[in-house]
Amino acid sequence: MSLTLRESLVTSALPRLEAQLLWQRVLGVPRAWLIAHDTDPLDPAQVAAYRALEARRLAGEPIAYILGYREFFGRNFQVTPAVLIPRPDTELLVECGLRAIRDVRAPRVLDLGTGSGIVAVTLALERPDAQVRATDCSAQALDVARKNAGALGAKLWFSHGNWYDTDLGSGQFDLIVSNPPYIDARDGHLGRGDLRFEPLGALTDGADGLRDLRAIVRGAPDHLAPGGILCVEHGWDQAESVRSLLLDRRFDAVSSERDLSGIERVTQGRAPA
Ligand code: GLN
Repeated sequence: MSLTLRESLVTSALPRLEAQLLWQRVLGVPRAWLIAHDTDPLDPAQVAAYRALEARRLAGEPIAYILGYREFFGRNFQVTPAVLIPRPDTELLVECGLRAIRDVRAPRVLDLGTGSGIVAVTLALERPDAQVRATDCSAQALDVARKNAGALGAKLWFSHGNWYDTDLGSGQFDLIVSNPPYIDARDGHLGRGDLRFEPLGALTDGADGLRDLRAIVRGAPDHLAPGGILCVEHGWDQAESVRSLLLDRRFDAVSSERDLSGIERVTQGRAPA
């Protein structure tokens, strides 16, 4: 007798939800289909395809890379091992960015180190009148971001380069956002769990975790319009240091915002006029 979905889910070594996601991927069906068809016999080729995905997951590969997408701000974004997997925390960066440009017509926005493009694409879709430029030092990441922009219908400008060291078009920005690498290179988490599979250069600056944040804050006043806002994501213990960096560069209205876990995760400030 051939295997049924129900039997496969009961015998899988994976949590049920993950096994269901992999089956959805193999069969190309929505979740409701799995439930309605759980006693249908499965084709052996499909079982083999499922087992291959299951083995990758059991070896520790993140589910988002196996599925090839992750949801962010209510939309599905393509992800590959060339980019970080979107974190729910980063929705806070988007919310702060949206608030910063709420009263600006046709705002000019710059996303530094865009990765899969989640922040830039979301800002462009939430504010269709915005002109959004996204940069990354990884050409492979920019490819992913371009695909996401195309698939979701966001019009963006892209530049390849390191922080401000790239073509930033003409003029100054009303908003600069960034979720840079901010994990200390000595942090043991880098060698554990999902992080092992993510691009190291997107997670850590190879230094104390504040090196890239310093470069971003240092350069921001030269690229912000008078009164423009800088919003950056950072690590759980970096808020005070990042506020100091902004204050040293004479930013006004410097403040940090807490994520859903109550951790100060995003810091923002207004460029000196
Ligand atoms: N928030 C991520 C993590 O701690 C790090 C992302 C980043 O460095 N920008 O896993």
